[in-house]
Amino acid sequence: MTSKLGPVPGEHIKISTNQWTEPFWQAGKEDRLVVAQCAKCQVQRMPPTPFCPNCQSQELDWPQLSGRGTIYSYSICHRSPFPGVVDNMTYVPIIVELDGAPGIRLVSNLVDATLDDLKIGLPVEILWNPIQDGWKVPLFRPSV
Ligand code: ZN
Repeated sequence: MTSKLGPVPGEHIKISTNQWTEPFWQAGKEDRLVVAQCAKCQVQRMPPTPFCPNCQSQELDWPQLSGRGTIYSYSICHRSPFPGVVDNMTYVPIIVELDGAPGIRLVSNLVDATLDDLKIGLPVEILWNPIQDGWKVPLFRPSV
């Protein structure tokens, strides 16, 4: 396959947030990637959760990351996530190990790449794709 992978159509994606996840999504509106980090012991966690798994603190900082990382794992999907709306769509869910956040991995999708580009360890960089209600979701493309 040589055609480029595109994003899952954002107009069909709706998210819900809560007090623990909203800072992540607010930063995404500004095309910034942040990570939840315990304000007491500095242990990072993703996804954001109410309690630190290390010290049980609920105080969070949100340091900004570079938006770069490497593909830790992936899957190739040939079934549309929106059958009847978008058919015959190939997309690639990926797990990205984020630079500057050891052990933190983000689930996303690969875009602007072909299946021939796809491999474990591929360097990638983030881009933010608009979805419903003014939010954006993180996608990744091969970094240059
Ligand atoms: Zn902690």
